[in-house]
Amino acid sequence: SAGLARYQGGFAPTRMGRVPVGITARRMRIVVTGGAGFVGSHLVDTLIARGDDVIVIDNFFTGRKDNLVHLFGNPRFELIRHDVVEPILLEVDQIYHLACPASPVHYKYNPTNVMGTLNMLGLAKRIGARFLLTSTSEVYGDPLEHPQKETYWGNVNPIGERSCYDEGKRTAETLTMDYHRGAGVEVRIARIFNTYGPRMCLDDGRVVSNFVAQAIRKQPLTVYGDGKQTRSFQYVSDLVNGLVALMEGEHVGPFNLGNPGEFTMLELAEVVKETIDSSATIEYKPNTADDPHMRKPDISKAKELLNWEPKVPLREGLPLMVNDFRNRILNEDEGKGM
Ligand code: NAD
Ligand code: UDP
Ligand code: UDP
Repeated sequence: SAGLARYQGGFAPTRMGRVPVGITARRMRIVVTGGAGFVGSHLVDTLIARGDDVIVIDNFFTGRKDNLVHLFGNPRFELIRHDVVEPILLEVDQIYHLACPASPVHYKYNPTNVMGTLNMLGLAKRIGARFLLTSTSEVYGDPLEHPQKETYWGNVNPIGERSCYDEGKRTAETLTMDYHRGAGVEVRIARIFNTYGPRMCLDDGRVVSNFVAQAIRKQPLTVYGDGKQTRSFQYVSDLVNGLVALMEGEHVGPFNLGNPGEFTMLELAEVVKETIDSSATIEYKPNTADDPHMRKPDISKAKELLNWEPKVPLREGLPLMVNDFRNRILNEDEGKGM
């Protein structure tokens, strides 16, 4: 469409001589909302490395400049402090919409899922950009089908404490499909299952970050309930590859993006002990309301249509986040004068 920045020209020097760049790869302008967050910052790294121009929109609600500081000064990178609940004018080719208060401690406070998604869809409609929504496995609620396929409609409490997250994302999916059907916007929907890795929020109460931080701080690992509930944990690089495959592919989705390796919280605690501190102890705490008993993605659809599957099992991925956590915990303690 007219007015969009499209970089077709240029020649790249290679051993084969000069190859016209525009024929194999087109440099794009891409917005990542929530790009200062955990998943977003890893996605931005991948897009920048690929050679694209990236604009991050973030209000730093849970995200941090630290996650992007290595890109400051890169002329292909731009960071805008902005709340997506307010409209914005930009000209880009693709929009990855990740902005969302993503953990129970934070998500109660913010209408981002509805207003933010509406604005980004309005933007996509105006400029003819492709829009990708990062939805969540929480749309399946406390599932009565196991593992969960994309065809499952879910079992969600509309008025519970978690509802503004589950139902917010369900509304975001509805809006996305309405703009697709009604306004012809090119859309993609990912349903992301529990993801972990470096740059995860230290204290947003997620189980992997809690256990890893607790083990490093020599505190007991807090297991909620009987610890027999299950989750399936995906390493962040696998997710980023899945998001890019989805954006670049021809299928709208929704697609489950997750690692089917399923663990009870007690098993996860064991892996954390093996990885960080075999002497770590466990402390049982009451569980939160409406906590899903089990969760495991059926990823056959993404395997078949996106040719994607996760590659990093929990026992390989967990060690990859320990250094990052150690450094940040150390800095925090120094900050307190300890
Ligand atoms: P995160 O909290 O690290 O990142 C979210 C980012 O959005 C933060 O940088 C935050 O500052 C920003 N943000 C929040 N509200 C905003 C607003 N109104 N305007 C602008 N920016 C705003 O969380 P994450 O784990 O990186 O999650 C990214 C996306 O993936 C979210 O949409 C989340 O729902 C989805 N998701 C994540 C997981 C997971 O396990 N990490 C699982 C399912 C879905
Ligand atoms: N919007 C935006 N940037 C744009 C275009 C739209 O932020 O470039 C916002 C707009 O302010 C509105 C929302 O997206 O709140 C939905 O826009 P749309 O045009 O679909 O709806 P309308 O404005 O017609 O109600
Ligand atoms: N959980 C736990 N200890 C903690 C934090 C969470 O046992 O310190 C449990 C929580 O009750 C849930 C599971 O771990 O059953 C996953 O919680 P998380 O918030 O990480 O993800 P979600 O519930 O959104 O899948």
